[in-house]
Amino acid sequence: MKKGKRNSRKLATIYPLVVKLLRVFSAIHGMRDVPSSITKINTPPPAAHLEVFKRHAEGYLALSTGLRNLALPGGILFDEWDSWHTLIITDEQSRVGYTGVLWGLGGGNAIGVPPIVNFGTRARKDKFLPGVANGSIQFCLGITEPDVRIGGPGAGGISLLIIPLKVPGVLTRQMHNSGVGASGSTFIIFNDVIVLVSTLIHKGNRGFEVIMLNFNTERKAIATQSIRLSRVCVEDAWNYTCTRETFGKKLIENTIIRAKFIKMGRMIEPTQAFLEQLTWLIELSRKNGKNSPSVKIGGMTAMLKVISTRCLEKCVREAQQIMGGLGYARGGKGGRIEAISRDVRVMAVCGGSEEIMSELAIREEAKDLKTHASASSQL
Ligand SMILES: Cc1cc2nc3c(=O)[nH]c(=O)nc-3n(C[C@H](O)[C@H](O)[C@H](O)COP(=O)(O)OP(=O)(O)OC[C@H]3O[C@@H](n4cnc5c(N)ncnc54)[C@H](O)[C@@H]3O)c2cc1C
Repeated sequence: MKKGKRNSRKLATIYPLVVKLLRVFSAIHGMRDVPSSITKINTPPPAAHLEVFKRHAEGYLALSTGLRNLALPGGILFDEWDSWHTLIITDEQSRVGYTGVLWGLGGGNAIGVPPIVNFGTRARKDKFLPGVANGSIQFCLGITEPDVRIGGPGAGGISLLIIPLKVPGVLTRQMHNSGVGASGSTFIIFNDVIVLVSTLIHKGNRGFEVIMLNFNTERKAIATQSIRLSRVCVEDAWNYTCTRETFGKKLIENTIIRAKFIKMGRMIEPTQAFLEQLTWLIELSRKNGKNSPSVKIGGMTAMLKVISTRCLEKCVREAQQIMGGLGYARGGKGGRIEAISRDVRVMAVCGGSEEIMSELAIREEAKDLKTHASASSQL
């Protein structure tokens, strides 16, 4: 399915350049070749792929470090990089269709490094960030299990620490999931691990704020990925229907099949518009700085995540049906759709599960309503 007409002038001017450069970059770095080899064995990238990992880090992970002296994708200058670029880069990478590969290459650092960039000391940044940018250091972010805490119960008792995986008492075990096989999902078990106070990223027990800031970015990225994966489903299913003939005519000539594409488009385009509206708001707020009325994006981002992952769930269902048996086969014409059908659940759960996101969205909305109501009553 073709992209809808974009309203943003910014997007219209930079998009072709960045996309062109990204596609060249992805092709050179063999990202499109990686899925067939590593998704089969259901493990994180083996040594043979470390070179790809390193080059990926140099191109894309430089971004998450916030280091100003590094080359960014598309030759964009550090000070010119904004949320639109991030949207484009996430969208373009997701064309690969194999989410596990992308997460395996950069997912851990993408969510694990920002707390250091945003809250770390100078010394800590100097110690870790260059290694992230050159692909020699990989972070993961372990926040799901709330029992690992140094403070009391509730949000006020959470802290973020940097714990090397090699210290005594830290055990790791591979996690076997339905999908995202190449992502390297791992159980991390802490068994009487001694941690130094100096490993705290921020002031004690302020971890909740750090995590919340991180989540908006992660959720927006998941939404961007989900929309692109929905488009991948449409693309591969469309190509199939244009060549496959049954009962003497092309599949696409059947009204009931055509209706499925309408249904997918009906979900994808409004979701894309919502994503771009949110991006516009983020940029507006960033440019207006402290003088602007604060834009609260937490609720909107949560709602976007729910809408986009539901869109993907429905699109992959329709696309898989359109592909018939091929939609159930690994590899081949339906290979990306089949992989997405196994990856879709994690998109709805990871980074904040649907029920929690919906609750957050309505809570934030209610808060805003109260604020606006009390402001207008003073007029
Ligand atoms: C492949 C994969 C990778 C992951 N990577 C990471 C990672 O890198 N870092 C990390 O920290 N975590 C990671 N996670 C964990 C992920 O963030 C959690 O699975 C997710 O947040 C849901 O938490 P949970 O699994 O504990 O579900 P639970 O909290 O047990 O919830 C179970 C279900 O109940 C619903 N639910 C829970 N509470 C309520 C409520 N009060 N009201 C209504 N419904 C409710 C949830 O929405 C969910 O549907 C990963 C998970 C997967 C599958």
